[in-house]
Amino acid sequence: MTRVVPSALALLAGLVLALSVPFDLGASLQAQGSGEVVVYSSRSHYGSEPVFEAFTQQTGIRVTFLMGNNNEVFERLRSEGARTKADMLLTVDAGNLWNAAREGLLAPVDSAVLEKNIPARLQDPQNRWFGLAVRARTIMYNTARVKPAELSTYEALGDPRWKGRLCLRTSTNIYNQSLLASFIRQYGEAQAEKIVRGWIANQPTYINGDTQILEAIAAGKCDVGITNTYYLARLVEKNPAFPVAPFWPDQGAGGVHVNVSGAGITANATNKAQALRLLEFLSTPEAQAVLAGASFEYPANEAVPMHDLLRKWGSFKPQPAGVASAGEFQAAAVKLADRAGYK
Ligand code: FE
Repeated sequence: MTRVVPSALALLAGLVLALSVPFDLGASLQAQGSGEVVVYSSRSHYGSEPVFEAFTQQTGIRVTFLMGNNNEVFERLRSEGARTKADMLLTVDAGNLWNAAREGLLAPVDSAVLEKNIPARLQDPQNRWFGLAVRARTIMYNTARVKPAELSTYEALGDPRWKGRLCLRTSTNIYNQSLLASFIRQYGEAQAEKIVRGWIANQPTYINGDTQILEAIAAGKCDVGITNTYYLARLVEKNPAFPVAPFWPDQGAGGVHVNVSGAGITANATNKAQALRLLEFLSTPEAQAVLAGASFEYPANEAVPMHDLLRKWGSFKPQPAGVASAGEFQAAAVKLADRAGYK
């Protein structure tokens, strides 16, 4: 994952330039019905807007958003059933995408473009959703109080040296459910439980928000924690001296937990062709650079360079299993957390 990056803005400028290429809008719209895609999105605070504006400029297809948090968007889609106006669900975490697919809310799509642009391990095996941007959920540490040599694996956060020094979100958070699910997939249920029991034995401070955990680490309220990478990138962009850094655990075996934000086309979409066109567009190198760059995520399309700020953190070995594991082992993860006393 070491790639050179032009800035997202420069790429966006390139994208806008590409829009001046003549486009046969009339024919396309005639073939596809109305020129609109309705997106139910829980990515409102991920800065995704410019990429959708570029899509509209390039194709003439309007994109209308209904924004909410994951649960709001999911419940609305489910309760609307066949009456929904949504053509696309755009959300964070493979666990959420997997739940939507399991509920029958997403339709499988057959797209050579998506198969080419998005690696298989970042897709639903049945093609009902596709990861568009990748985040790692990794160990974060206070650079003044912890040396990287003191860190090694997720399990080692259960070492007594971290007693009272660990901050965690609760296990009700989908990011952590997916993390535990990936441990079950990777190491088996018994070992996954051992990892969690170690953390709990260290009496973690529960903090409900990745940004808040990073701020607590920076303030010395705790010394280590587990968060998604893009939250740290946002804080470092604002303050390059922010005293927290990521550590890549489990590099000997297992790998770092990665997850996606992604999208699928709804089972009851009225603008299916336009929605597929949007989904394919979002997987292209031009769109990927803007989409992932704006949110400090890793592009899902491996031909696209990552943001400079992420590149500085170095490369890491991700867990080898597909992100669909987050859904497959979600129920087991919730039960495990309960057994282990993980709030
Ligand atoms: Fe998030």
